[in-house]
Amino acid sequence: MQTPRPADPSAEQLFESACGHAREDRLLASVEALLGWDEQTMMPPRGAAHRARQAEALATLAHRQRTDPVQGERLARLAAGPLAAAGPPAVRHAIRLLARDHERNARVPEKLVGELARTCVEAQQAWVTARAESSWPVLAPWLETMFRLKRELASCREPMADPYDALMDDYEPGARWRDVAARFDSLRSSIVPLVQACTGAARRPDDAILRRDYPVAAQQDFVRQVAAAIGFDFERGRLDTTAHPFCCGVGPDDCRITTRWDVRWLPTALYGVLHEAGHGLYEQGLPTEWYGLPPGEAASLGIHESQSRLWENLVGRSPAFWEWCMPLARRSFPEPLRDATAADVQRALLAVRPSLIRVEADEVTYNLHVMMRFDLERAVVHGDLAVRDLPEAWNDRFAQDFGFRPPDDAAGVLQDIHWSAGLIGYFPTYTLGNIFAAQLMAAAERDLPGLDGEIAAGRFDGLLAWLRERVHAVGRQLESMPLVEQATGSPVSERWLVESLRRRYGAAHGIGAG
Ligand code: ZN
Repeated sequence: MQTPRPADPSAEQLFESACGHAREDRLLASVEALLGWDEQTMMPPRGAAHRARQAEALATLAHRQRTDPVQGERLARLAAGPLAAAGPPAVRHAIRLLARDHERNARVPEKLVGELARTCVEAQQAWVTARAESSWPVLAPWLETMFRLKRELASCREPMADPYDALMDDYEPGARWRDVAARFDSLRSSIVPLVQACTGAARRPDDAILRRDYPVAAQQDFVRQVAAAIGFDFERGRLDTTAHPFCCGVGPDDCRITTRWDVRWLPTALYGVLHEAGHGLYEQGLPTEWYGLPPGEAASLGIHESQSRLWENLVGRSPAFWEWCMPLARRSFPEPLRDATAADVQRALLAVRPSLIRVEADEVTYNLHVMMRFDLERAVVHGDLAVRDLPEAWNDRFAQDFGFRPPDDAAGVLQDIHWSAGLIGYFPTYTLGNIFAAQLMAAAERDLPGLDGEIAAGRFDGLLAWLRERVHAVGRQLESMPLVEQATGSPVSERWLVESLRRRYGAAHGIGAG
């Protein structure tokens, strides 16, 4: 005899249960995020072994929760039901994306998830030693393991897809490496001559002003004021010190940003904070009513990076910004800025200087660093380059793009944490972010005719409101390309970035905008 079944819960009830489950997934992920923040900010070096076990245990638990077959059934029923077809747009996107994420995650064995989480912590610790000692052999075996595990992950998730595309999908959903490579090739063909023109210019900006003595205590106070002025809410976020700046969204009202300090180079902390606060504004601007669900999540890392780059470079290095910021800076640093004008500082900030280290690169050469990493990691994932040959491939490519070779591996292949942290397929999102930022800023300037004057008066709320409405409020309902197209009214193109770099850096170096 059959047990009588309860009537099918209505689609709305089913949707509520699925959302409740997804929000619990998000809670666990936010605990993982908090542990990650602690690892970079507070954890003593010898805490790493225990942290690796915590990370593995939590990742396994989170994976089990995320791949619960009961949730899979709910999502399958929802995806075939009336809400997915005719519900409100945010509900339709939530169902589509939750179902997609569930399927992708359910294809990955629990053992692989735990192994990856543990390896990430251990490999990062090996990277710290390897970089400090400039010793490639310390890191090499860890990268062998990491690339192997990530390839395995790609083939579980998307067995039919190109493995690099499958990995990039974690950071830039919908992106395809062939399309990205074509955009980057076009960008490179404009950037290489611009770098040559800037470095060969007769009238190059002198950045000596920025290398004076800027006391760290004064910097700490100054950058907090700047972050608050552009809209970063310190009631819902905080700023700490780390070796590598980052932004970490712990919860809807808890966004952690970090920076580092250099007493002899003001831009490290100021632009580090403008960058991370730009990420923070995006996190703080995501729709809180959808927290834990796709409409309340960031669209992609490229979109995330567009927000940080927009505030860091397109706002923060502009003449209007310095018109506002100079009196504040002079109050914080009366001695080093005694004889400087706003125009002096602003022009000093646009010096182009090819350098070894990506995170210290100027805005123009930065993209060359990124494109090189994109090509190298893709070659490893595709099996065209062995991990053991990475240092030499790195140095050859660097010499080709920059005209000189790194003196050692610490200043070469060992400089970035990404590969040891399992972030493979992540690098291209930096330059995609620059492309999106330039296009968004051009559209904001078109839509907000008084924008320059507002910035010069220290009023950033008009620009922030524009970004909130066009970008932040969308959450993950659109992939990055359609999102930028919808926000700006034009298909994504690298031409705005090229125009912006040529105009601003051409002017600073006294070269024509040709
Ligand atoms: Zn960033």
